[in-house]
Amino acid sequence: MLLDTHQRTHDYLRISLTDACNFRCFYCMPNEEIAVTPNSQLMSTEEILDIAKIFVALGVRKIRLTGGEPLVRKEVKEIMEGLSTLPIQLTMTSNGVLVHKHIDTFQQIGMKSINISLDTLHATKFLALTKRDQFQQVKNNIDLLLDRHFKVKINVVVMQGINEEEILDFVAWTKHIPIHIRFIEWMPFDQNKWSKEKVFSYQKILASVDQAYTYDKLDDKPHATTKKYKCHHHAGTFAVISTMTAPFCSSCNRLRLTADGKMKNCLFSTSETDILTPFRQGQNIIPYIQQNVKRKEAALGGQLGDDYTLLDTTLLENRSMIAIGG
Ligand code: SAM
Ligand code: SF4
Repeated sequence: MLLDTHQRTHDYLRISLTDACNFRCFYCMPNEEIAVTPNSQLMSTEEILDIAKIFVALGVRKIRLTGGEPLVRKEVKEIMEGLSTLPIQLTMTSNGVLVHKHIDTFQQIGMKSINISLDTLHATKFLALTKRDQFQQVKNNIDLLLDRHFKVKINVVVMQGINEEEILDFVAWTKHIPIHIRFIEWMPFDQNKWSKEKVFSYQKILASVDQAYTYDKLDDKPHATTKKYKCHHHAGTFAVISTMTAPFCSSCNRLRLTADGKMKNCLFSTSETDILTPFRQGQNIIPYIQQNVKRKEAALGGQLGDDYTLLDTTLLENRSMIAIGG
């Protein structure tokens, strides 16, 4: 069991398959020219599977594949097939643009649920946000997933002055379609152009929905990052991930593995533990994993205080989101 010093058990691992991406979302990455980690430094397919087995032996019961864009990883099919033989719930967060090429594999391995990121319902804004003219392909792939009865959650990073005016349109989508919208407060990472003025808070998100809908609070699962709601008579739900204004650290059960085999116990942790190098040397990596868990801070990696408006981002020590694996 992976227990930290704050009595939190960790049974959920997010594995980044690559720090490469076919999109260029401005809020996620430093700029167009970031260097992608060479293949030799990435965990190979076999290494991912062997390291995942060790985490499962230590109590991990859910694995989410992420990135960068996990579906650009050449060996993603073999990785999904291998991981699906483990006694875990396997899922993924993707930008959705390559889903049609992999949906048969998702079904064959028994994946039930997938998170797709989509920050706008307008093709022109999509192009401005991602630098890629792929809105329709992403939308078609969401429809394809729904047709094939996947549970689809949509991640929307809400940013003041960018897409907050679309909150009601996203909620309207849940009226007849069993889709689950997750509004995410924008978080600061290395060179991601974050500013406190552009954070659109949990309270403001609810106030926006209040303008047009009545809704009920739903029960949240014990380790949930989301605060879930359902509008009256809607088929789907909406939720808020309020990392900046109402974090959920006290019940956190998540660990992360970067594509180059470094373990992070929090998105905001200042330190990382190299798991891959000792693994390649044939060492037992369990003590490294356990030490990393024991070093987990009570909240937000010990870096972000209670009030995000006082945050000095020049003091933050972290990688970019695309390099951590969101
Ligand atoms: N490429 C995949 C995707 O976009 O879904 C997976 C990786 S991405 C880093 C994972 C999630 O992190 C996405 O939903 C993305 O919108 C979110 N994200 C990226 N940067 C963020 C930030 N600064 N604040 C909040 N969420 C962010
Ligand atoms: Fe790529 Fe996802 Fe980051 Fe967008 S949010 S740049 S799709 S990793």
